[in-house]
Amino acid sequence: MSLRSSDLPVAVIGAGGAGLLAAAALRRAGVAFEVLEARDGVGGTWRYDEDGSGSACYRSLVANTSKLRMSVGRKRIPGRPWEYASHTEMLAYLEDLARDEDLLPSIRFGWTVAGARQDDGRWTLVEKEGEERAYGAVVCALPTSGRPRFAELPGRYDGEQLHSAAYRTPERFAGKDVLVVGLGTSGGEVAGDIAGTARSVQVSVRSPLWMMTRRIGGLPIDWIDNPWLARVLPWSMRRQVLAGLCKATTGGLHKYGLPRPTRRCGDDILAVSDTFPRAVRRGLVAFRPAVQSAEGRRVRFVDDTSAEVDAIVHATGFEPPTDFLPEHARPAPRSLYQGIAHTEAPNLLFVGMMEAHRALLPIADDQAAWVADVLSDRIALPGDDERRSAAARFAERRLRDFGDRREYMVDHAKYRAMLRRDRSRRGNGRRG
Ligand SMILES: Cc1cc2nc3c(=O)[nH]c(=O)nc-3n(C[C@H](O)[C@H](O)[C@H](O)COP(=O)(O)OP(=O)(O)OC[C@H]3O[C@@H](n4cnc5c(N)ncnc54)[C@H](O)[C@@H]3O)c2cc1C
Repeated sequence: MSLRSSDLPVAVIGAGGAGLLAAAALRRAGVAFEVLEARDGVGGTWRYDEDGSGSACYRSLVANTSKLRMSVGRKRIPGRPWEYASHTEMLAYLEDLARDEDLLPSIRFGWTVAGARQDDGRWTLVEKEGEERAYGAVVCALPTSGRPRFAELPGRYDGEQLHSAAYRTPERFAGKDVLVVGLGTSGGEVAGDIAGTARSVQVSVRSPLWMMTRRIGGLPIDWIDNPWLARVLPWSMRRQVLAGLCKATTGGLHKYGLPRPTRRCGDDILAVSDTFPRAVRRGLVAFRPAVQSAEGRRVRFVDDTSAEVDAIVHATGFEPPTDFLPEHARPAPRSLYQGIAHTEAPNLLFVGMMEAHRALLPIADDQAAWVADVLSDRIALPGDDERRSAAARFAERRLRDFGDRREYMVDHAKYRAMLRRDRSRRGNGRRG
């Protein structure tokens, strides 16, 4: 089954890492495309802005996956492979990628896709000011982490509130009592960043995550889950290894009050932070249970204790930024064939719409190559029923391996191997 029903170009939505990789793969496959990007530059997550509107990048942001594991294609992120890239290094790397692949002339900057319709197999995308453009297929290169999600806080809170995505620098909280709601990677990193500058930092934890630092014995932790071994070792065994690494690096924090995780290690994302464990050991962070309500500046918690705080940082995660799509075409775990092609809107594909205990861009790179093969008719997709049942089986496997909390989680090694097998079985070898 061919996906492109017309000679119209393909739209790639987003010029973050996933969008650039998708565009580069389409260019190499000889498929005409155009990239639509809301902001005025490439890089997405890694493009810092002072006003806190464009991405979740804060001033001290450093990747939590090593340069070796985050690099894509033949060009490594400059520096030593065991280092972790700062956001400026990541942005420079992605800007280089856009230049090297000659993508910049094909990107429409400042074009926010606000609506989408599908008629007769072609897509019309609508810009927020009303301009419309037609495409033969759409590749959404958007992450699961695009739209900030806030904690519910019944009552009226009079202090300052922001999402962790809008956090930039600790100075904003100098001398203030701050409550961080949520303890994933963002919650841990924000709490660690402001500890020592804020007058006090409390962290409200509803479902405690497994946490680790970036290194163990000087070695990047993501070097231990070796991709070649990961293809053959069962996930249940690798899960135990990850739990061991969490215990070895942050297990001691429980005696300072860090609540113990309740889920199996690996069923949720693993929080990664270096600054947070240091702040906890220095006694700069206090722990609270889930929030219940607010009145004035006082926040009440589910254990009936309360605290008066000047600011609340909601580090409560994100939703996929795909509400511009018609309802039947929004991504859902059971409706993505191979985690990429929408079963109910077949010329709609997703690159980067996944999570993993691993750097995401190399996975997006394999998805991009698969998409380019599909859109250049090198991979023929099976019929509707077969794609639907394969997508349902894929979702069930995810549920079995990772539980119901992270619906887009994939086992990076097995998933990438599956996409590569798909490509080579259909007569196309892997590139680079
Ligand atoms: C704080 C933070 C730290 C992270 N650290 C790591 C890490 O260390 N390692 C790792 O592997 N992953 C990390 N991630 C995940 C990271 O987002 C991905 O690895 C990767 O950079 C995502 O690339 P992307 O292109 O899918 O999304 P993004 O980088 O978010 O790019 C999406 C692009 O789409 C644009 N866009 C969105 N909606 C529209 C629209 N409607 N119309 C037009 N354009 C639109 C955005 O402006 C943006 O430029 C982190 C995420 C966050 C938030």
